[in-house]
Amino acid sequence: MKLRSMMLASVLAMSPAIVTAAPVLDTPVQDEWWQGGRAALDARMKVVNRPKRAKNVILMVGDGMGVSTLTAARIFDGQHPIDGRKPGPGEENDLAWDRMANTALVKTYNTNAQVSDSAGTASAMNTGVKTRIGVINMGQDHGPEACKTPEKLPRSFAEIAKAQGMAVGIVSTTRLTHATPAAVFGHVPVRDWEGADRAYPAAARASGCADLASQFVSFKGGIDVTLAGGGARFLPAGSGGMRDDGRNLITEWQQRWPTGQFVADSKGFRALAATGTGPVLGLFNPDHLNFEHDRKDDAEPSLPELTRFALTKLAAGAKARGGKGYYLMIEGGRIDHAHHASNPYRALKEAQMFSAAVAEVLKSVSLDETLVLVTADHSHVMTIAGYPERGNDILGFIKPARDGEGAGPTSPEGFALDDRGQPMTTLSYANGPFVARGLSRLLPPNDPNYLANKTYGTSGESHAGEDVVLFAEGPRADLVRGVMEQNLIFHIMAEALGWR
Ligand SMILES: [Mg+2]
Ligand SMILES: [Zn+2]
Repeated sequence: MKLRSMMLASVLAMSPAIVTAAPVLDTPVQDEWWQGGRAALDARMKVVNRPKRAKNVILMVGDGMGVSTLTAARIFDGQHPIDGRKPGPGEENDLAWDRMANTALVKTYNTNAQVSDSAGTASAMNTGVKTRIGVINMGQDHGPEACKTPEKLPRSFAEIAKAQGMAVGIVSTTRLTHATPAAVFGHVPVRDWEGADRAYPAAARASGCADLASQFVSFKGGIDVTLAGGGARFLPAGSGGMRDDGRNLITEWQQRWPTGQFVADSKGFRALAATGTGPVLGLFNPDHLNFEHDRKDDAEPSLPELTRFALTKLAAGAKARGGKGYYLMIEGGRIDHAHHASNPYRALKEAQMFSAAVAEVLKSVSLDETLVLVTADHSHVMTIAGYPERGNDILGFIKPARDGEGAGPTSPEGFALDDRGQPMTTLSYANGPFVARGLSRLLPPNDPNYLANKTYGTSGESHAGEDVVLFAEGPRADLVRGVMEQNLIFHIMAEALGWR
């Protein structure tokens, strides 16, 4: 101890004049909520100092996982836990991202659309450039002619990562060529140009823009691990595929990567060694993977299982890359599809599995070297309404809280009734297919096939335009705060890797 601090210490020890004021809240209130709040405050005040530089970046996108889905899925998971916990009322439950320390609200609009789609939003996250609805990784003023000058297109995070010697991985429950995963590797002015088929017209082919499946195969440096659906866009018509140009892109991929391994079902997948050299391509369905509720385990691995493999594979390759890290995009892609059908059960089940994948990531990686971001590309028009009592089945009819506001007429079973005398469900949609509502009436609302009520009849339920949440942990997660534009996600990932 230096002389000066020794003196200071002794002065402090002797001095009776230094008094700390008695705390205003000196006696803890004997109430579980008060004490729970105190404990949560104490946990927050423990400062975690992360390094400022990340080695790896993991971007996790729950497609269509808006705020109402976050809340409803949290309750659903609490009422139907999948990890051995006891079922509870649900409202108090935490999904994996509910324990992440940093959050921001994200503006999701596209440059020409108030309510966005997955293409424009995935472009914002992957290139740092906002663009038009339906466009993948091209600028807002770019048309098909821009494909002729690829060097002028916005570069994707994966392209830059590859050029830096990093590895890249994609895990998705949709077709690999669907908008969200395609934005990791592709550039197209029309998201439907997924393969050489009817959706990719002659004029499009003449424009010089390659279809997304072929862009995947020719991606510079290759993608190290790719696990998704969508095999039909890679195979010729007549050989289990839908390509009309006769190309077999799986064969082309195998020729390009002689050490690569292609798998098409769970058996092949589970026989793979995650530590093997060479890239892995798994396409487990000709189209999207099945919803978790409909999934056959011997055909398709679950999203958490795919996630675990990708993490092991990318970490195992670090030595061969001279310690360089990876960029991994993981998508829970079918929350969106279930919502479009106005089927809350499957939407919440998909969100629950996406949370299990996030939990897998958070327990597998070191948050001192990996920036983990969890977000949605856009929201959906599902709402959580009425005044159901605490613990009410999130998928069920509204059983009103006893002294709750708006306690109107109820059925003999105690369900709140609307002005036509029909029981109301907590979850409903602003729009969606009316035809289906009629059929769905025959089912109890907590049936997995029940399609919820809606205000406007449309061919399919739509996206919603309010902000989504971005959750973050790891190096530079502190930059995730306040209200932000969606393209800032790219720039935060770039800063975390020290690219600026
Ligand atoms: Mg998607
Ligand atoms: Zn959608």
